[in-house]
Amino acid sequence: MKKVVILGGGVGGTIVANLLAKLLRPDEAEITLVDKTGKHVYQPGFLYVAFGHTKPRSLVRDERRLLRKRVNLVLGEAVRIDPEARKVHLADGRALEYDRLIVALGARLVPDELPGYAEAAHHFYTVEAAVKLRDVLARFQGGRVVVTVASVPYKCPPAPSEAACQLDYYFAKRGIRDKVDIHFLSPLSRVFPLEPVNPVVEQVFARHNIRSTIFFNVESLDPPNRTVTSIEGETVSYDLLVMIPPHRGAKVVEDSGLGDRGGWLPTDKYTLRTKGHPDIFGLGDCTDVPVSKSGAAAHFQAKVIADSIVADLRGESATARYDGHVMCYCDAGYHKGISMSFDYEHPPVPPPLGLKDWLGKQVLNRLYWVLVPTGRV
Ligand SMILES: Cc1cc2nc3c(=O)[nH]c(=O)nc-3n(C[C@H](O)[C@H](O)[C@H](O)COP(=O)(O)OP(=O)(O)OC[C@H]3O[C@@H](n4cnc5c(N)ncnc54)[C@H](O)[C@@H]3O)c2cc1C
Repeated sequence: MKKVVILGGGVGGTIVANLLAKLLRPDEAEITLVDKTGKHVYQPGFLYVAFGHTKPRSLVRDERRLLRKRVNLVLGEAVRIDPEARKVHLADGRALEYDRLIVALGARLVPDELPGYAEAAHHFYTVEAAVKLRDVLARFQGGRVVVTVASVPYKCPPAPSEAACQLDYYFAKRGIRDKVDIHFLSPLSRVFPLEPVNPVVEQVFARHNIRSTIFFNVESLDPPNRTVTSIEGETVSYDLLVMIPPHRGAKVVEDSGLGDRGGWLPTDKYTLRTKGHPDIFGLGDCTDVPVSKSGAAAHFQAKVIADSIVADLRGESATARYDGHVMCYCDAGYHKGISMSFDYEHPPVPPPLGLKDWLGKQVLNRLYWVLVPTGRV
């Protein structure tokens, strides 16, 4: 019997495991998913935790309950991938053999890569950090809030500008917006990563008095003096710093000598096979595929990988290709949102800002558990 091993029980790993369990007969393959926590976390909810709208416990489910029965769940940390022996080694000494391996380990936050980060910055990229930020915001009575990213790439590219909008809305509701100066620092030549959507976001920033500086790539922090300095030579002071931490690819990928300089898994952007190792597929945030690191991308990629593995195991030619499709909603506050859908060939069409897409995001937040990890949509 063929063995398919999936590393990581996040968005991509869970969907692909369930799709394979649906598409392959039990006598065709044994499907095993390895996750180090056994918990599935809905990360888009972290932003809502930071602003007090969501309880942390609503964002976490047992992975076992999201997986089809025939998927074996192994709790363990993958520490080495051996492509020659087709084995994955776990921290507790176990080793799993595979015929096809899917690496869906997500991105790793590495705050220590920026000296002073732990003392200086707050963020909302883990549930613990989001809770801490929520408490800090509740005590904040006025001053300058700087929102920025430590480095690129990072997951969910719209999240920092979404956070700036949420800060504006939050302080307006508390009646202290006039006491807070929100300053957004972008490493790019514009405030929003997707060029066609940038004018919409600039208008929102202008309407809500969110200041912005472009070409601000963070070089260093000075926590005692509360300043952040850019490679471009500018220094900005803050009273509260909200900074997305530096990201790298998965440690096991790096330790196995499979990663690029950032630790990202080199992956063909169409077939999603790892370069040089066609039996290994790269899925979601841990790869170097040139799309937004997002749950939506992982979702669409999972379908391509499932179809390719079914074809491989049946001795057919795999024709499924990932077209770069990403779809996302952004919450701009005041019950307004925008949605974006794009792929390698088609940039997003600048969307109108409105209630419909804000509602779309709220509905997705609630229906995620039923629709997404199960592979139903
Ligand atoms: C604040 C925030 C807001 C976001 N908003 C959106 C949004 O609106 N829309 C959107 O599409 N995306 C959004 N995202 C991004 C989205 O959550 C991620 O892109 C998505 O979770 C990536 O899926 P993945 O399967 O690649 O990795 P993950 O979902 O991160 O899963 C990785 C899994 O691998 C496991 N793992 C890691 N290392 C090991 C190891 N060595 N051994 C075993 N298991 C391991 C982890 O436990 C985890 O379960 C947001 C992210 C954040 C932080």
